[in-house]
Amino acid sequence: MVLGVHCSVRHGYLAALEEARSLGCRAMQMLPYRRRHEPAQGELSSFAKARKESPVAKLVVHSRYVPCPGSSDEARRAHSRDLLRRELALAAGLGADAFVVHAGAYSEGASASEGLAFVAGTLGAAMSGSGAGFPVLVENVPGGGRRLCGALEELARLLEGLGGLRDRSGLCLDTAHAWAAGFDIASAEGMFRFLARVNRLFGAERVGAFHLADTKALLGTRREDHRHLGEGYLGKEGLKVLLERPEYEAAPAILETPRGPGSYARDLEFLKLLR
Ligand SMILES: [Zn+2]
Ligand SMILES: [Zn+2]
Repeated sequence: MVLGVHCSVRHGYLAALEEARSLGCRAMQMLPYRRRHEPAQGELSSFAKARKESPVAKLVVHSRYVPCPGSSDEARRAHSRDLLRRELALAAGLGADAFVVHAGAYSEGASASEGLAFVAGTLGAAMSGSGAGFPVLVENVPGGGRRLCGALEELARLLEGLGGLRDRSGLCLDTAHAWAAGFDIASAEGMFRFLARVNRLFGAERVGAFHLADTKALLGTRREDHRHLGEGYLGKEGLKVLLERPEYEAAPAILETPRGPGSYARDLEFLKLLR
């Protein structure tokens, strides 16, 4: 795995790159734009150039805001499609290697199947014509309620629903989300089982990125909670198995642990000691 961190774009793209570089990371994740700021073409290209010249080999762009790609309301889906299209264009300008998106939820009164079909339609419409040469990765979430893609089978159905665009899609696996969704990945054995299921359903090559965080949510409680590595219920054993898997060697693994002075450095150190 290529280790990286989620970098803030609050002070611009180059500051985000500097954050990754100063931590010695070979991967990074960031949002495609910052609030109330329309990036100029020059900002995108100067970041892309600086990144190519840096040791940061993998850039993951995480979708900032997609309200409802699975909504039953056509106008809301069209709005989501336009937002996604814009984010994909920005990601392309930044030179992204992958783009991560959440499937969101389905509408009240609809079914999960209908919601998944709508998400696939919205995503597909945004992807086709975007010219994005990188894969779009759908992230597993804690799930619960009407939220889609807590279950791996839903994620698989969504990717199937992309039809011809399927080859340009994949998944991003978040450890804290998997735990909250009920996958017991804390033990070595549990992680083996989980990854075997992932590889059987999708193929290892379609796991385009990982998000690493510990969590203090109880197993299967669908609660969103990200902690520093080693400070939650996930601990070390499962994580160690994940880090050692040869089939994910080239995949970026992004820390999504709480930000704070020196905290990424401590979490990266935790991973290095595990390897
Ligand atoms: Zn996410
Ligand atoms: Zn995540």
